[in-house]
Amino acid sequence: MKRDMTCVACPLGCQITVEIENDEVVSVTGNTCKRGDAYARTEVTNPVRSIHSTVKVNGGYYPIVPCKTSGPIPKGAIFDVMKEINKVTVDAPVKIGDVFIENVCGTGVDIVATNNDEGKK
Ligand code: SF4
Repeated sequence: MKRDMTCVACPLGCQITVEIENDEVVSVTGNTCKRGDAYARTEVTNPVRSIHSTVKVNGGYYPIVPCKTSGPIPKGAIFDVMKEINKVTVDAPVKIGDVFIENVCGTGVDIVATNNDEGKK
């Protein structure tokens, strides 16, 4: 079986073809670098993604603050993780790196702030 994909590891977007036999990757072609090879192998065995989103802020200068996963999570967990993020409201002040959710959905990954909000003056 062959699977075609676009590498998203950098903006070049190489078209990669992965050949799979008996659940084993037998070849990766079309990638320009090793990152593409690693991306393609992960994509066919355990696809992962990082998420960027926002949470609500009480008393913030802005009503929401951006956040992200501290690392990639399994693609299949995205919907559940987004549900958990949508439940969160934090209090200002917020600092970059503040952990909003630890070990979200048992993924071993945290949801962390990616901006500051010192709150209303
Ligand atoms: S294979 Fe390498 S050069 Fe091509 S898109 Fe992926 S990371 Fe970029």
